[in-house]
Amino acid sequence: MNIKLVDLDHRKGEPLAFQVTLDPAELKERHQEIRGLTTVETKGEAAKLGNLYHVKGAMEANVDFVCARCLKPFTEHMIVPFAETFATPEAGSEVDEESDIHLLEGEVIELNPLLQEDFLLAMPSFPLCAEDCEGLCPVCGINRNEGRCSCDTRRIDPRLAALADFFGKDEE
Ligand SMILES: [Zn+2]
Ligand SMILES: [Zn+2]
Repeated sequence: MNIKLVDLDHRKGEPLAFQVTLDPAELKERHQEIRGLTTVETKGEAAKLGNLYHVKGAMEANVDFVCARCLKPFTEHMIVPFAETFATPEAGSEVDEESDIHLLEGEVIELNPLLQEDFLLAMPSFPLCAEDCEGLCPVCGINRNEGRCSCDTRRIDPRLAALADFFGKDEE
C-alpha cells in the first residue's frame, strides 16, 4: 500500500487512518523460525507534522513456531507496533545519514517493504514455548515439561566429567 504525500499535505496535521494486510507467504520465506502464519492485519495512521511525515500503528498475526528447547510446535499471537518518520529531499537539513528518518524519493510513502522489515525484526530468533521451558533431557529425550526421568545429566559433558574426576582424586 502506498500513501500519497499530497493526501497528507491537505489534511494539515489531521491523521489519516489506514488498514493494510501483509502477505504471509513472503514473510515466512524470509524468516527461518516462522513455520507458518496468518495474514498480517495492520492498522495505523499517517500524518504530516511540520516538514515530516509520520506513520505509526500495529501489526497483528498468529505465528507458528517450534520451541528451540523442547521442539514442540506452538502458535503465538504477535502484536508488532511500528513508528516511522519520512521526509522529502526538500526538508534537507533536518535529515542526515544518522537519523532514523527515511528519505522519500517519490510522491508516495511505500508502506509494505518497511512494515515487512519491522515485522521480521520483531520475530524471535530463539522461540520458546514458555519462558521457563525446561527442554528435553539430553540423555533420554523426554520432554521435561511433560514428565520426569531419572537420567544422570550431570555426567553428560565428558569434559566436565573428566574435571570432576580430577578434582575428586585430588581430595583423596
Ligand atoms: Zn519448549
Ligand atoms: Zn532422561
